[in-house]
Amino acid sequence: MSYEDVLTRYEPVIGLETHVELGTKTKMFCGCKTDFGAEPNTQTCPVCLALPGALPVMNRAAIEATIQIGLALNCDIAEWCRMARKNYFYPDMPKNFQTSQYDEPLCVEGYVDVTVDGKEYRIGIERVHIEEDTGKTLHVGGATGRIHGATESLVDYNRAGIPLVEIVTKPVPGLGALAPEVAKAYVAELRDIVRALGVSDVRMEQGSMRCDVNTSLNLPGDDWGTRTETKNVNSLRSVERAVRSEIIRQAGILDDGGKIFQETRHFQETTGDTRSGRSKETATDYRYFPEPDLVPIAADPVWVTSLREALPEKPSVKRARLREEWGISESDMQSAANAGAVELIEETIAAGASPAGARKWWLGELARRSNELGVELSEAGATPVQVAELQKLVDDGKLNDKLARQVLEGVVAGEGDPAAVMASRGLEVVNDTGALTAAVDEAIAANPDIAAKIRDGKVAAAGALVGAVMKTTRGQADAKTVRDLILERLGAS
Ligand code: ADP
Ligand code: MG
Ligand code: ZN
Repeated sequence: MSYEDVLTRYEPVIGLETHVELGTKTKMFCGCKTDFGAEPNTQTCPVCLALPGALPVMNRAAIEATIQIGLALNCDIAEWCRMARKNYFYPDMPKNFQTSQYDEPLCVEGYVDVTVDGKEYRIGIERVHIEEDTGKTLHVGGATGRIHGATESLVDYNRAGIPLVEIVTKPVPGLGALAPEVAKAYVAELRDIVRALGVSDVRMEQGSMRCDVNTSLNLPGDDWGTRTETKNVNSLRSVERAVRSEIIRQAGILDDGGKIFQETRHFQETTGDTRSGRSKETATDYRYFPEPDLVPIAADPVWVTSLREALPEKPSVKRARLREEWGISESDMQSAANAGAVELIEETIAAGASPAGARKWWLGELARRSNELGVELSEAGATPVQVAELQKLVDDGKLNDKLARQVLEGVVAGEGDPAAVMASRGLEVVNDTGALTAAVDEAIAANPDIAAKIRDGKVAAAGALVGAVMKTTRGQADAKTVRDLILERLGAS
């Protein structure tokens, strides 16, 4: 069954729940550090290990960051709200409840506008609330790293209690076949908005931004269908694939007269489809109740106003400004944004490259490499400063395009900065006329017919001789110098 065929018969509805781990120095309710990758269980204390009698204290910086996110998403900020206990047992959660928010979220009723194929879509934001992360469980001894087949499980509580912000959209109907792309564009926009605020590094591959994708299908004119919730979608591309494969899967069941059950499903990176997880708990299973150990949050309106006034330029506004500065089209800017390249290009220009030079590398070689490796563009192996240096070597005529690509290969392979790679690989363009003259004379001697044409004034024929010289110098000659030299030797310049 083809995707296009499904969309002629069913209407999809999507909804996204996104968790963002805040980059605060300390945890949500205690003073423990939050460094990523620290030795297991070295960033814990009685509060985040939930030892008897330990009492939590709210982290002001986390509340501030949540309000900033809410404001950037056009939300109303609650004048008064409380934390709530979400009760459930899991070994990586020492309290046996998660301190979260339920019916009194800190931020409500916002929206994000995204553009896909030149059309704008408004995604409603239901709420933005603050909660805490769980620890991490490591299953060892099995082949898959999953609990099945493992001989033991280890728990690392370093992450337990790190502040998390959950951003929940309203259901989004009416997208038709574009639902997967709009979902992806929304997550990309959200990531850019949060990154601009500087409150999280929002790295999907490291888990500091995680997405749950809700999808349902209904027949035209019917009520919305039952949704499934696909967990652990860890890249922008996977958001798109998860919606698409869930639409196709659900259509297959509905076509056969089956029913969709509300459940959580897991996205499979390898196949791009989803597998059934647990049947979904309902809110009543969690026995939510207001957290008695913490005071309510009542953000001073003066504080909220000052945060609103200090908001950074919106990514969409910034893109429009950069588009002017760089002199590129809307769709070129959109591809740069989709590739996660806007900031990288901006930094490369700040480091001295021209807009065209900067864009070329990030959207060309480096984009290709990041796709191949399945990593973010910023992880492709080169920094903006290195790319600017590379482009400068090209502009100065020390590297031609082909050599520059080889230098970049060395840079991403960790051989050092462009100048160092150029030196160690011996890749400099040969501009020394003495060395080139011999190669030029050789090419002229080997191609008397072409040489005669050039002598007769058919200057365009010089291209063939340039090619011959480039071949003998293994691409290390500067094409313009070679051409000038050929014309000079043949008295045509
Ligand atoms: P839960 O915690 O049970 O997953 P939430 O309210 O946190 O519930 O999130 C539910 C998500 O599912 C929201 O993003 C919402 O917009 C979305 N959603 C609700 N109904 C549907 C539906 N019929 N189809 C698709 N998405 C839906
Ligand atoms: Mg959920
Ligand atoms: Zn602690």
